[in-house]
Amino acid sequence: MTVTAAALTGLGFEVKAAAAAPLRIANAEEVTTICPYCGVGCGIVCHSVGGKVVNCEGDPDHPINEGTLCSKGASLYQVADNELRLTKVKYRAPGSDRWEEKSWDWAIEEIAKRVKQTRDETMVHREANGTIVNRTEGIAHLGSACIDNEEAYAASKLMRSLGVVYLDHCARL
Ligand code: SF4
Repeated sequence: MTVTAAALTGLGFEVKAAAAAPLRIANAEEVTTICPYCGVGCGIVCHSVGGKVVNCEGDPDHPINEGTLCSKGASLYQVADNELRLTKVKYRAPGSDRWEEKSWDWAIEEIAKRVKQTRDETMVHREANGTIVNRTEGIAHLGSACIDNEEAYAASKLMRSLGVVYLDHCARL
């Protein structure tokens, strides 16, 4: 018994040898991958058991991050396994106090309809001095930290092709 354990016993605590908890990555399959979230490109080691991702952590052999990850990369396994993740469209109509479940087809059509209507109503073709600008002033786009590089690229191309000039990203990357 160590001096600390002896001291705790003297104070009335029951001291037992700690049982080794089984590792959640015991017998797991291990693969390396690249974080999909931003252009830093950190290396990640993912562990799976029976086809289910149980852990993701920074790859200590990767030259960019040397085992470290930001909080977003560290929570990557939740992309594969998260019972709280929404998988159906939820819509709350203007003025309503409740969410309705809608189909994906309905949501995509409704978004397209509203984007077109707003673009048509707010497109500016020329400045007052006659300079052609063709910009859409009624729409802004905020990129999400939850989309990956390729999705961000596609989103920015789509917005620029619509004439949207108010583009930003929550992480300003
Ligand atoms: S999101 Fe974080 S973990 Fe992923 S590549 Fe960027 S800095 Fe690295």
